[in-house]
Amino acid sequence: MDTRSHTVIDPQTRPAPRPGRVNLVGLSRQEMADALLATGLVTEKQARMRASQIWHWVYHYGVTDFAAMTNMAKGLRAQLPEHFTLDRPEVVEAQVSQDGTRKWLLRYGPGVEAETVFIPDVGKAGALCVSSQVGCTLNCTFCHTGTQRLVRNLTAGEIVGQVMLARDALGEWPSRGAGPEKVGTGFSSGAATPKYPEDRRLSNIVFMGMGEPLYNLDHVATAMDIIADHEGIGISRRRVTVSTSGVVPKITELGERTGAMLAISLHAPDDELRNQLVPLNKKYPIAELMDACRAYPGLSNAKRITFEYVMLKGVNDSDAHAKALIQLLKGVPAKINLIPFNPWPGTDYECSDWATIERFGTLLNKAGYASPIRTPRGRDILAACGQLKSESEKQWAAKSRLRPAT
Ligand code: SAH
Ligand code: SF4
Repeated sequence: MDTRSHTVIDPQTRPAPRPGRVNLVGLSRQEMADALLATGLVTEKQARMRASQIWHWVYHYGVTDFAAMTNMAKGLRAQLPEHFTLDRPEVVEAQVSQDGTRKWLLRYGPGVEAETVFIPDVGKAGALCVSSQVGCTLNCTFCHTGTQRLVRNLTAGEIVGQVMLARDALGEWPSRGAGPEKVGTGFSSGAATPKYPEDRRLSNIVFMGMGEPLYNLDHVATAMDIIADHEGIGISRRRVTVSTSGVVPKITELGERTGAMLAISLHAPDDELRNQLVPLNKKYPIAELMDACRAYPGLSNAKRITFEYVMLKGVNDSDAHAKALIQLLKGVPAKINLIPFNPWPGTDYECSDWATIERFGTLLNKAGYASPIRTPRGRDILAACGQLKSESEKQWAAKSRLRPAT
């Protein structure tokens, strides 16, 4: 069996978004209705109904061609492409790991590239790891993305586009064999709920790709509204996890606006060590971070916070570290994800020995914490945690604009 990963360079089949027209992917129903009205193709009365129909075609069926929208008049279908597109992000490179993990390098504009990774057999069925920024303004010392130079926030459409692209690639849009079904208006609560296949492979979403999602919360929240809508992509908010390195002032807002599951990149049980590994800790130290965690909306034993802990040999992996971690998390509904460090070119860190990781996990388990060791996935194509990096360059001048005034 050929177990090598393979690379598909595929710039032609995914055209870059065409300039001058609005991409409807990423727009809410209301924004679609407004955009339709602005073209003059529909009356005010028709705009909402047409927007609901288009919404359904775009987000439920994943169509990329207005001609397929068979419950709309032919004339309208022919005119829509003059104003709008349904483009996906341009795929520069698609790779498949020997373990089934898939990675796409996406181009959002000249030199603006980010990565998306699909990991089978995670969560209910499989998880898509999406990027929220191109690169990252933070510089966690063990993270490849943190060494990247160009940074800009991705728009809601660019985030949603990652999910749509993965559904395309996995062939996961519902079939249209039965003809157009009843479409709810979505503007009211009485909308019809369509049936989704039970065996979907893409069941969960994790904001664990490139970037710090809480430095782009507006777009992340809008993207989640679209992704979770039951008349569209329909992935429940409980199956979406947002990981943060600890942007304390935005944590409550994340819970209130999105209802997402929270993951914290903790990596160290004390400020001295965390300051070295996650420099943002100097701004928001552990005590403040833990207060924000305790106050996370909806927190319960059924909705625990995941604390991510990268295992770095001789740095944060001793018994004393494990005991300090147990003390720190007392009283917080938590599970701990132990992440074997994924090496990347140029790093000085090494992954802890397997026996050390297991010993660390056993100590946490004995203290009552679920502490699964995250199996590294897609290492051969640099798709594992913290290995993502595109060739885009960080715009240092733009850095301050990306950080909310906190
Ligand atoms: N910026 C956010 C979202 C990225 S999530 C955050 O930091 O939480 C990516 C996860 O992988 C984080 O927990 C991050 O700390 C971890 N990570 C980064 N580099 C890694 C590496 N080289 N090996 C293993 N995990 C890594
Ligand atoms: Fe940015 Fe997260 Fe990497 Fe830190 S771990 S540099 S916050 S992507």
